[in-house]
Amino acid sequence: MELRLTDEQRMVQKTIRQFVEKELMPLENDVLRNERAGKPGISAEKLKELQDKAKKAGFWGINTPEEYGGANLGQMMMALVAMEISKTFVPFTFGGSADNILYYGNEEQKKRYLIPTINGEKKSCFAMTEPGAGSDTRNIKMTAVKDGSEWVLNGEKTFITGGNEADFVMVIAVTDKEKGRDGVTCFIVDRDMGWKSEYIDTMGEWGPAALIFDNVRVPEENILGELHGGYNLGLEWIGFARWIVGARAVGAAERLLQMAIDYSQERKTFGKPIADRQAIQWMIADSAVEIEAAKWLVLNAAYTLDNGEDNRHLASMAKLYGANMGNNVVDRVLQIHGGMGYTRELPIERWYREARLWRIYDGTDEIQRLIISRNLLKGHVKLGEFI
Ligand SMILES: Cc1cc2nc3c(=O)[nH]c(=O)nc-3n(C[C@H](O)[C@H](O)[C@H](O)COP(=O)(O)OP(=O)(O)OC[C@H]3O[C@@H](n4cnc5c(N)ncnc54)[C@H](O)[C@@H]3O)c2cc1C
Repeated sequence: MELRLTDEQRMVQKTIRQFVEKELMPLENDVLRNERAGKPGISAEKLKELQDKAKKAGFWGINTPEEYGGANLGQMMMALVAMEISKTFVPFTFGGSADNILYYGNEEQKKRYLIPTINGEKKSCFAMTEPGAGSDTRNIKMTAVKDGSEWVLNGEKTFITGGNEADFVMVIAVTDKEKGRDGVTCFIVDRDMGWKSEYIDTMGEWGPAALIFDNVRVPEENILGELHGGYNLGLEWIGFARWIVGARAVGAAERLLQMAIDYSQERKTFGKPIADRQAIQWMIADSAVEIEAAKWLVLNAAYTLDNGEDNRHLASMAKLYGANMGNNVVDRVLQIHGGMGYTRELPIERWYREARLWRIYDGTDEIQRLIISRNLLKGHVKLGEFI
């Protein structure tokens, strides 16, 4: 067993770190100013400019298969990249990627949706959650009724990431009510087929949307995958993002803890730096231990997937622990900064608001615990199975 990064992984980590420090961190004040004025953190043009710069440095399509022009670096690299990128809150993503389930499209769908998404010409979103069906995905009510060669979709989706900007949505609807989870289908639906989006104000800057479908007619050829095969596609979409949440939390927490380490050595009270106080030292120590533990969980989830093994149990662990670690660390870092931590002069409050989301989307804490305990109680996974 090798518990260190390879030379290649270290090189990628270093290059991305430099990109984040040189290109993204200098934008942080602008991002804060824009967001506080109710505008996107960075404009679409700026994002494109940054993505083009990253592309020149070889970072494009990080996880996209080579046949689609991607670098296909694998999950371990994805984890390392996500950790580095999350050391800033600048809302940047590398170009050249598409949702994992779009690869299930037929040749025509790949031409119309997958390739334009990879090339940045089209934006996608994925919609499973409804006002009455979040954790309980079996309660989905959106209907799709066949009418000639078309399906007619009615219902509402909620909290859809990217739903305000998307050109098309991959939406899950009930096609056979009697069949439960074997009676739902995933449809690719262009915005100009008639669905509407409404911005949802949240405590963070994520800005999800409600999507309204009122007799939206979708041609039969826009079914993604198999008729009635939507449930598994949904799980696959959610599963892909799940452990990455842990990676994001690790990156943010490392940056935040460094801020606390620096500040605690500068800030003096009662004649001494607060870093000399055990109360502060313990917060630093606990945070460092939790970050390290979360990092190993994330890397194990990534390694397991790269190895072609089922990583769902580890993905839930990495998400649950990572999200909670991130919340613990940002709270301690805010505490170490005292009143300054609570101001909008520093970005800690922004991270504090964003971190709260990590415990909710892509399966809440409670749902991750349910999955982990069920796997163990039913014997799907044995303790100590992975190492
Ligand atoms: C900013 C944001 C972005 C999102 N992006 C997307 C997206 O792109 N696409 C998409 O489809 N969805 C998206 N979601 C939806 C997200 O996945 C759901 O909000 C989440 O799964 C929880 O569902 P819910 O909000 O309906 O809560 P509920 O399911 O109603 O849960 C309420 C509470 O009860 C708990 N609970 C529920 N069931 C159980 C149980 N069996 N045992 C114990 N406790 C339980 C939950 O953990 C939670 O604490 C997003 C959400 C947010 C906030």
